[in-house]
Amino acid sequence: MSQTPRPVPFVDLGLQHQKIRHACNKRIAGLIEASAFVGGQEVSDFADRFSEKLGTRHCIPVGNGTDALYIALKMMDIGPGDEVITAANSWISSAEVITRTGAKPVFADVDPGHYCIDPDDLERKRTSRTRAVIPVHLFGQMADMERIMPWARKHGILVLEDSAQAHFSSLNGKMAGTLGDAGAFSFYPSKNLGAFGDAGAIVTDNSELAERCARFANHGGIQKNEHLFDGMNSRMDAIQAAVLNIKLEHIDEWNTQRMEAAAFYSGSLSGLDQLIVPAIRNNTSHTFHLYVILTQDRHSLRQHLDERGIATALHYPTMLPLLPAYEHLQHVGSDFPVSLSLQDRILSLPMFPGITREQQLRVVKAVREFYE
Ligand SMILES: *Cc1c(COP(=O)(O)O)cnc(C)c1O
Repeated sequence: MSQTPRPVPFVDLGLQHQKIRHACNKRIAGLIEASAFVGGQEVSDFADRFSEKLGTRHCIPVGNGTDALYIALKMMDIGPGDEVITAANSWISSAEVITRTGAKPVFADVDPGHYCIDPDDLERKRTSRTRAVIPVHLFGQMADMERIMPWARKHGILVLEDSAQAHFSSLNGKMAGTLGDAGAFSFYPSKNLGAFGDAGAIVTDNSELAERCARFANHGGIQKNEHLFDGMNSRMDAIQAAVLNIKLEHIDEWNTQRMEAAAFYSGSLSGLDQLIVPAIRNNTSHTFHLYVILTQDRHSLRQHLDERGIATALHYPTMLPLLPAYEHLQHVGSDFPVSLSLQDRILSLPMFPGITREQQLRVVKAVREFYE
């Protein structure tokens, strides 16, 4: 009888933490000792380091990635009567923040090669009310910023990059989040750069926007008891910043491991006609937050892998316009043909820094076995 091999997890955060556990314990113990919990030195150090590493002037640490998007959009003065366009194929945060400002979310389809917002559909969706666009660097792949930026500048449209899945992805050496008017990051634990809880950040070169965001995230004031306008409470915890400061030392290595793992999958699977491996846009680096293949047999392949202890996931099983939350927009799937064709074919394979060649070989072998 053959032995059942150990399961291959979808992500393995524990593996990443082995290496930094000691440093994290020490730093967190220091914060408990000092009763330093919200804001403070760790948070301002992180803001400095993150913006320096990205090559942007300002970083405003906030409570999570959704707040980062919302605060930036709100401080760009987006509100009722405005339209903001985002990708039909994304996580709901990209759209719900638009609704929360009082503006109308407008969806554009994605392109079939890279699964990011399609500049041609952006132009079709533009109206006199379009004030901003939120391109999403989905799965770590850069959106087509070389076309989006000139288009946005020409029409006076603001660009907020949803960079929650693209820490240190780049286009011609310029990092995701630094090409538009502002960028929003999430440090949710499973993101490429993740905290030990919720955290997020806004980055921008615009000093006035940076100051407005910093105030809005802290009840309208930067100093205590200074409330220039109503804001909200969305601050980064010191513990999260400490973990992020430690992880920032490793992020390049971890991203490289993801890219190497992606290259191995693509090299080993590209011979199969029944599936499509992810493309990488020219002149960009794709940091593979997720490794997503396309296949007509998604449902049965997923089951086949599951039976062999290989965990997979779907990003995303229902495109945003078809979610109950956007029923009022009365979309049908055929409004977004590319997103529609993706949602039944996508399959995210195990991908995390430190995934072993042996684990990947098991995935590859099981996929090949399914088709042969
Ligand atoms: C994770 C994510 C967000 C939101 O980040 P949170 O920190 O979970 O609020 C926004 N957009 C995309 C594309 C994401 O993947």
